[in-house]
Amino acid sequence: MKIINGKKIASNLNEELKDRLQGLKKNKNIVPTLVVILIGNNPASKIYVKNKQIKADEVGIKSTVKMLSAETSEKDLLDCIDSYNNDNDIDAILVQLPLPSHINANKVTDAISYEKDVDGFNSKNIGLLAQGRPYIVPCTPLGCLKLLHTEVNLIGSKAIILGRSNIVGRPMSYLLTNQNATVTLAHSKTKNLKELCLDNDIIIAATGIPKMVKSDWVKEKAVIIDVGINQIDDKNHKKILVGDVDYSDVFSKVKAITPVPGGVGPMTIHCLMENTFKLSLLRRNLKYNF
Ligand code: NDP
Repeated sequence: MKIINGKKIASNLNEELKDRLQGLKKNKNIVPTLVVILIGNNPASKIYVKNKQIKADEVGIKSTVKMLSAETSEKDLLDCIDSYNNDNDIDAILVQLPLPSHINANKVTDAISYEKDVDGFNSKNIGLLAQGRPYIVPCTPLGCLKLLHTEVNLIGSKAIILGRSNIVGRPMSYLLTNQNATVTLAHSKTKNLKELCLDNDIIIAATGIPKMVKSDWVKEKAVIIDVGINQIDDKNHKKILVGDVDYSDVFSKVKAITPVPGGVGPMTIHCLMENTFKLSLLRRNLKYNF
């Protein structure tokens, strides 16, 4: 049994990225720039945005946050995105989700130029990924893939993804298909989920249901990537974070598993930084060879 230490892996990757960013600055005088648009006062979103800013600062990416009030109209938000699309100093645009209910999230993600779409959620980027010719890949699935690469040869492996959201499950299914895995994409209407899980070498859990996957769902020596981040009360009524997999229950049975926290979360932030770097090169037709 092996714990896949996402925190450590992300930290090493961030160090490598920092070196590449220094090279980019030294040789080309380019500092990639990320703008994060934050609408409203959602406390969790504020923490996520703060963490992104801190990481950007650490690796050498310039980041700015555009704060908009919760009452901002859809049109004003679209105009704001458009101004960043046309701003030559900006390489990457991220609109922090969720959005207030009066704003259509699909319109917003599609308004971001696909060349600055650092989250990769825009329909052009998802379409390119689905066709096996990605321009930029959504951060959480990309982070999961990097973790899987440390443990398994994906070619011909059987993988099941629990959850089909546009930000995790669906893009994950395209990414693994592109890597020649045989993929099952499960959701709340899937029948015989336990039996399906037992038939797979890899389980990627992204349902938002705390400790849903138990040991009798898991094949011996399976590799498990737990995307879930759920806050629950422990026995002493203390708030703790748990994943979608019952970690202690499956622990002795699996080949490798990501912990929560310290698994997928740090990789998501790393991939956001890496995507910003990639977009800054792609936009200038540069390849990293300096
Ligand atoms: P969504 O709520 O958008 O999607 C949940 C998915 O799970 C849906 O497709 C839903 O099916 C499916 N589902 C719900 N119940 C079941 C069930 N009983 N059996 C099988 N499938 C089920 O969630 P997200 O994708 O946004 O997030 C999933 C989890 O990952 C959350 O815990 C979230 O906090 C976490 N997360 C973590 C990130 C990280 O960086 N570590 C980043 C993003 C998310 P249906 O489509 O039928 O409704």
